[in-house]
Amino acid sequence: MKNTVVLISLGGTIASLPSSSGRAVAGALSGKELMDSLKIESDGPVEVITLCQKPSNAITIDDLLQLRTLCLELAQRTDVVGLVVSQGTDTLEDTAYFLDSTLELLDTALVVTGAQRVPYAAGSDAGPNLRDALKVARTASARSAGTLVVFNEEIHAASSVRKLSSYQLNGFGSPGLGPMGFVDGDEVMLSKRLLRSSVIAPGEKLPRVDIIPVAIDASPALLQAAVASGAKGLVIDAIGRGHVPPSWIEPLAAVLNAGVPVVIATSTQWGRVDEVYEYPGSLAEQVALGALKANHLNARKARLRLMCALSCNLPINQSILS
Ligand code: ASP
Repeated sequence: MKNTVVLISLGGTIASLPSSSGRAVAGALSGKELMDSLKIESDGPVEVITLCQKPSNAITIDDLLQLRTLCLELAQRTDVVGLVVSQGTDTLEDTAYFLDSTLELLDTALVVTGAQRVPYAAGSDAGPNLRDALKVARTASARSAGTLVVFNEEIHAASSVRKLSSYQLNGFGSPGLGPMGFVDGDEVMLSKRLLRSSVIAPGEKLPRVDIIPVAIDASPALLQAAVASGAKGLVIDAIGRGHVPPSWIEPLAAVLNAGVPVVIATSTQWGRVDEVYEYPGSLAEQVALGALKANHLNARKARLRLMCALSCNLPINQSILS
């Protein structure tokens, strides 16, 4: 019978214990200890796997590749209806988007969750978020919906979700789009669905891609420094519709001419980059030099997409970002 949900625990605040200083040690609890301590009732069997016990700043790309392989294996089991990944919130959106970009699970729901407040604090969201995530993972409409993030009674698409608060319980949102659905007590309402980008099966090793942030009159020195120190691709976290200071154009041209792909994303919360202006440093100028547009993806998501495409030798052109 297809009714088992597998919880894959990576650590994070949701699985934390206090240290002697009173600060939280994220990932101190294993997945089993987490499930046991929260005493969550689920509508069917829950199997627990502890993949790692880390704060999410320490999760590596190799961990993500291992997680993807595990998800693929579990989705092949006839008794598994859904998967829940629990981890720290700081990189939760990266994990969710990586899985969404690299997995096509047609008959298995895939949900990522975490918590903003430690499980031993009053009013913690650890129990409610995990309970809701398990519920969504058993919901028929969640299958084939791509990777979903369940947080604070909302269901978000991996491609749009972002951590918007460093500590509040409503820590995640999808600027410009809103949630795909809600969890209301025992009811799961998953009413919207985003068009997903094509799935990329990554290679065994993902190359380094760096994000370079833009600010007023920022130096372009990091562009060349990143490439000189080994980056195989760059994402520029540009301003507005995708602009950089005029002084960036020359070093950008040098990087592109050296064959290093560069993607331009916007650091605004919402909206795609677009070549609506013509002046030094405009997106039109960068695209004419060979830079790619992240469209609506933010820099962190565009970075993962470029890493995956580079890892399996896909032709690096605009189609990897559409
Ligand atoms: N710093 C923590 C982490 O990402 C935050 C959290 O889990 O909410 O592991």
